[in-house]
Amino acid sequence: MGTWDAVVVGGGHNGLVTAAYLARAGQSVLVLEARDRVGGTAVTEEPWPGFRVSTAAYVVSLFRPEIVRDLELERHGYALLARSPSSFTPFPDGRHLLMGPDPELNRREVSKFSARDAERLPAYEAMLERIARAIEPTLLETPPDPFSGRPADLWRLARTGWRFLRLGRDGPRAVEVMAGAARAVLDRWFESDEVKATLATDAIIGAMASPATPGTAYVLFHHVMGECNGARGVWGYVKGGMGSLSEAIAAAARARGAEIRTGARVARVEVREGAAVGVVLEDGTEVAARRVVSSVDATVTLLGLVGPEHVAADVAEAVRAIDYSSASLKINLALSEAPSFAALPGHGPGPQHRGTIHVCPSLDYIERAYDDARAGRPSASPVLECTIPSAVDPTIAPPGRHVMQMFVQYAPYRLAEGSWDDRKEAFADRCVDLLDAYAPGFRKSILGRQVLSPLDLERRFALTGGNIFQGAMGLSQLHFMRPIPGCADYRTPVRRLYLCGAATHPGGGVMGACGYNAAREILRDVRRGR
Ligand SMILES: Cc1cc2nc3c(=O)[nH]c(=O)nc-3n(C[C@H](O)[C@H](O)[C@H](O)COP(=O)(O)OP(=O)(O)OC[C@H]3O[C@@H](n4cnc5c(N)ncnc54)[C@H](O)[C@@H]3O)c2cc1C
Repeated sequence: MGTWDAVVVGGGHNGLVTAAYLARAGQSVLVLEARDRVGGTAVTEEPWPGFRVSTAAYVVSLFRPEIVRDLELERHGYALLARSPSSFTPFPDGRHLLMGPDPELNRREVSKFSARDAERLPAYEAMLERIARAIEPTLLETPPDPFSGRPADLWRLARTGWRFLRLGRDGPRAVEVMAGAARAVLDRWFESDEVKATLATDAIIGAMASPATPGTAYVLFHHVMGECNGARGVWGYVKGGMGSLSEAIAAAARARGAEIRTGARVARVEVREGAAVGVVLEDGTEVAARRVVSSVDATVTLLGLVGPEHVAADVAEAVRAIDYSSASLKINLALSEAPSFAALPGHGPGPQHRGTIHVCPSLDYIERAYDDARAGRPSASPVLECTIPSAVDPTIAPPGRHVMQMFVQYAPYRLAEGSWDDRKEAFADRCVDLLDAYAPGFRKSILGRQVLSPLDLERRFALTGGNIFQGAMGLSQLHFMRPIPGCADYRTPVRRLYLCGAATHPGGGVMGACGYNAAREILRDVRRGR
């Protein structure tokens, strides 16, 4: 092939979505993925024979139903398994809290801790749902730039503003959700620390922040948007592991004519006279293209693959200022049996195994864990989110055996002492011991263990600073400011070079929205002959 219409750098799920839509529009598209398989952080791997692990991302809800329909992903093998209950929190005093999509279960369970909270929970959820209805349409829109002075931007901004105005009395609450601290929101609605701690975990996922940090209410909200098989705010597992979604998108892209090469690491984006003209692979292969689309983060793309010499000084400075602070670590485990919790005994699998198991007994516990991270120490008592997808999906583990994925906070990328390579196994021991205290015998059930420190996440997936979202999700890095102000329309200062990954609006998460929006903007340029 001489010159491709588009080369996509990175076969993560967003790069694949962009490739599929471009190919559907008749463009010749080549995806170049550095790793030996597609998916990026939405991937399934088999570290131990018979155990299929979602190495990084593990639950899905935000993935856009429009993309499922357009690309006929179900025909290509994509199936979502809903989780009910969706969470289980055991407490040191032997009590437990189950929550999920069933309102009656929630009422019963929350009443064990506070009758008032049980009464208020439906109103809280309804409030978030009303805000979600106003904000969700923006996920599949290119953010208007309020400072561009372009009439089209102002018109689109007015349309977004109108949606907010229609929120009426929910408007101020929406502003708090966009900019405030999760703790303040939860304190106003609920009195039980157990309930608040369980809900607060969504606010800190992937963030170097505690629920008391301004901006965390949005992270909490980000996690209540979305749906699972039409049920709002419910998170599910992808059948076969997260990689099955990426494989389905890849199959859809291939069916529409895209070519996908794995084991093809791009070393450089070729720039001539301010425009991208192709890429050079690590092995020296040159690939010519009319457009280059990168699903890798803005720092790796603009300062690494392109090089600061091709980028204006103020742009390079803005890219260097992107906040990648991060404190997440992942432990993947093969288990001989599901854990039996003192608070709800039984190896089941039962309701306590189906959803996310939170080890996070109080808001102050999270604050203390965060204080350690601020001082550059892995938390002495970490916050654990454990999932056992094999309790719902028997295809991913040998009969009777289980896969556990432990998402751990806080593991600060920058350590005050030592290196992650030397410290990660000891920290993982601490996490295992912690869960063992709630589920005696758990430690002995471990057949295999994989620990991914923030440094490993950076090396393995090219995530700057180990940030799981290709850039922190604070207000100053969202919407028209993502990845940097002036570049939120998926175009970059290098002509014919685009970004399509989580670094762009609407950010991190297995949503497909970044890739979808980028494809729309690229096709607009194709039509205009730009
Ligand atoms: C540990 C962890 C847990 C997470 N948990 C969840 C979760 O449960 N639910 C959720 O919704 N989200 C979760 N996320 C976030 C979510 O996975 C990501 O935001 C999303 O998958 C990003 O997809 P992407 O396609 O934009 O980028 P990526 O997945 O980062 O894909 C980029 C791709 O580019 C490739 N690449 C990099 N450099 C090169 C190069 N030079 N040449 C060629 N290819 C290259 C990479 O190998 C990768 O495949 C998690 C992330 C992590 C890391």
